[in-house]
Amino acid sequence: MRFSTIAILLLWSCLPSVEAQQTDLCSRFKQHVQSLSATELDGRFSGTKGETKAKDYIISQLKLGRMTRLSIDSFAIDTVILGHKVKTRTANLRVFLNNKADSTIILIAHFDHLGIDSIGLSNFNGNPTLHPGADDNASGVAFLLELEKEMELKKAHYNYLFLFTSGEEMGLLGAKHFLSSANFNRLKIKLVLNLDMIGRSNDNSKFMAYCTSGWTKPEKQELLNLDTEKLLTFSESCPKISDHFPFHQKGVKTLFLTSGVHQDYHRPSDTFEKLDYKKMEKLYGLVMNYLRKF
Ligand SMILES: [Zn+2]
Repeated sequence: MRFSTIAILLLWSCLPSVEAQQTDLCSRFKQHVQSLSATELDGRFSGTKGETKAKDYIISQLKLGRMTRLSIDSFAIDTVILGHKVKTRTANLRVFLNNKADSTIILIAHFDHLGIDSIGLSNFNGNPTLHPGADDNASGVAFLLELEKEMELKKAHYNYLFLFTSGEEMGLLGAKHFLSSANFNRLKIKLVLNLDMIGRSNDNSKFMAYCTSGWTKPEKQELLNLDTEKLLTFSESCPKISDHFPFHQKGVKTLFLTSGVHQDYHRPSDTFEKLDYKKMEKLYGLVMNYLRKF
């Protein structure tokens, strides 16, 4: 009873002016974001039970398949729980889709957030409270979960590595851990696509697309040509604030997509109902078209 009520509400809020298939995608995005930002997950702070629930949710939603392998890549972190410094562990989730190709495209979204702000990362000045992190970054995780479902259906010239990172809010720890591991050295990386905070409509309704120096003009033009709805604003700078940056420092070609910082950024008010799921759908269409070009 409860499930069907939620499903009806999800559909209702996504219905106007989208086709049936897209409506499903819109509803699934919303369902993922709502689930990942729910109170029971306690804001998904790295190394906590709430974050483990987020990992469990992601694993439960993966399609996986014959060519796909899931790895849970655990690593140590220092954190603060109930006011005490503790050493604990967290993990990245890696889903490797092996197309038996030479090179690999890495798709990244971090699933950790600020928890109840136990180490003062919040922009909120009140007492420690739940930070649901709907846009930051349940939105990117939702996007990657749906991409993972669809990618195996097509023949591709690249392998795909879906990398769900932890420890991003504490200093890009999951991305740095990945880069220090043998997994990175074994891969020939064609591109790293990082999705972080892609759910909001600000005054400028476009997405920022940060392309680093590895991009040639024709490559950029190719992406531009696909962007018939003019969703993207390009920049050649490389912000340090998200998981693509350590890859960029290693000379890997990266693309960082984001709808940008907003007034609810790192505050308890970053909630699921404020996201623009239809805009996420449009970006999804563009990213799928782009990946199909390879
Ligand atoms: Zn953040």
